[in-house]
Amino acid sequence: MPDRLVLLGSKGGPALRPGGPWPSSSLLRIGGRLIVVDCGLGVTRALVDAGIGLKALDLIFITHLHSDHVLELGPLIHTAWTAGLATPVGVFGPPGTGHYWRRFCQAMEFDIEIRIVDEGRPDIRELVSINEFGEGQVLQQRGLKVSALRVDHPPVIDCFALRFEHGGRSVVFSADTAFFPPLADFARSADILVHEAMLEEGIERLVAKTGNGARLKDHLLASHSFAEEAGRIASDAGVKSLVLNHLIPADDAGIVEADWIAVVRKTWAGDLTIARDGLVVELA
Ligand SMILES: [Zn+2]
Ligand SMILES: [Zn+2]
Repeated sequence: MPDRLVLLGSKGGPALRPGGPWPSSSLLRIGGRLIVVDCGLGVTRALVDAGIGLKALDLIFITHLHSDHVLELGPLIHTAWTAGLATPVGVFGPPGTGHYWRRFCQAMEFDIEIRIVDEGRPDIRELVSINEFGEGQVLQQRGLKVSALRVDHPPVIDCFALRFEHGGRSVVFSADTAFFPPLADFARSADILVHEAMLEEGIERLVAKTGNGARLKDHLLASHSFAEEAGRIASDAGVKSLVLNHLIPADDAGIVEADWIAVVRKTWAGDLTIARDGLVVELA
């Protein structure tokens, strides 16, 4: 498979609605490495649908511990294990990732123990290494360099944008963040910037639908970026291509791709992709 980005799950937030897209997860193929970024619900199914054999699972990065980014981390690794995973998997996440993983293995203890004895599988707990990271360099390995920038996603403190570099190419994920100007430096000249985005006109209808209106609206405004702000970061960073992802709202029939494009065009004139589940962006 050539180097590419696959947007596996493109919606912001954990709720699912009939016919709608799925929470946050992406696949990055760069320099021959297979990297999963975030593990929202549906990541396992989406990887299989993208033609990825789960035994090939290699590196997993989690931007923060909101459920729409981490809920399926354990089930993904466990399912890969039942599919024959026998090589080490490196999981990189914020502080608390190890706690999640240990408790997941405890919750699945019956199944894990019985499959080791009954089916002769390796111990899943020994296949997985958990690496909790903070801001700065996260990984440098066989030409792959990964670095992290703490972004602005209150009340979550440990939420990190991620920059992946290999062979002169680079892909940056904003993670969940309010408008955060330092991201422009962090994403400087990247080939692809994957930035979260929400659309102002859809927020009112969304909060009316979910039932906890005022509080949800306050959270969204304090912790997420409008599409035109994502475009501003892309322009300031001078990236080659912008992908709007983690869309809020993502499943409002009254909002179509052209609405997103119209708003981003106020601040970004370059190459633009509006994420959809399963969409492939080639890394030229
Ligand atoms: Zn999120
Ligand atoms: Zn979040």
